Amino acid sequence: MRVSEGNPVGILSLQGDFEKHRQALAEINSPSKEVRTVEDLTPCSALIIPGGESTTMRKLMAAEELDSAVKKFAESRPIMGTCAGMILLSSKVEDSTVEPLKLIDMTVRRNAYGRQIHSFIDTGRVPMWEDNSKLEMVFIRAPQVVSYGPAVIPLATLGEEVVMVRSGKILVLAFHPELAADRRVHRFFVEEFIEERKGIPVAL
Ligand code: GLN
Repeated sequence: MRVSEGNPVGILSLQGDFEKHRQALAEINSPSKEVRTVEDLTPCSALIIPGGESTTMRKLMAAEELDSAVKKFAESRPIMGTCAGMILLSSKVEDSTVEPLKLIDMTVRRNAYGRQIHSFIDTGRVPMWEDNSKLEMVFIRAPQVVSYGPAVIPLATLGEEVVMVRSGKILVLAFHPELAADRRVHRFFVEEFIEERKGIPVAL
């Protein structure tokens, strides 16, 4: 199989706000596909793990054997995780209620900004966007980046906090870009992580 423009971006759709990611990708003319089984994942050029409840999502993934399939997928294809998705992709979760997939060398703290009432919208910065580095960020019971290893590159901040990082083909965010109007994060993922891979043969 070859990854090409025609291969959709898979959105893990077991739980959480997967539909908003589909809308965000549609707005930038990027085809997407809901992923609920290993078979759904197979043709995808990349995967998005949305926000939701990481403990529940983790159990549902295990029930479908999507945990091991996603780890294998990550060997050759990009994955973006937002909020609960960031928790699931991390190497260590401080409170140990979630067994993470360990696909990015970082420690996170769940619900670090408090309970539901502490959800908020604020303006952060993405320094690589030199012309307009300001970005509206939506946080919902968001995890915090506690620490990360040398291969991890910080990409965005909110005050002193690092809220978006990448390592190789993995991009993770503590906030929800799908819930704001700005599509630059989705465009960045599609253009920098997927399109550069056009034509690269992959095998599952
Ligand atoms: N608090 C959730 C968790 O720990 C994540 C919240 C979200 O994805 N918006 O799984």
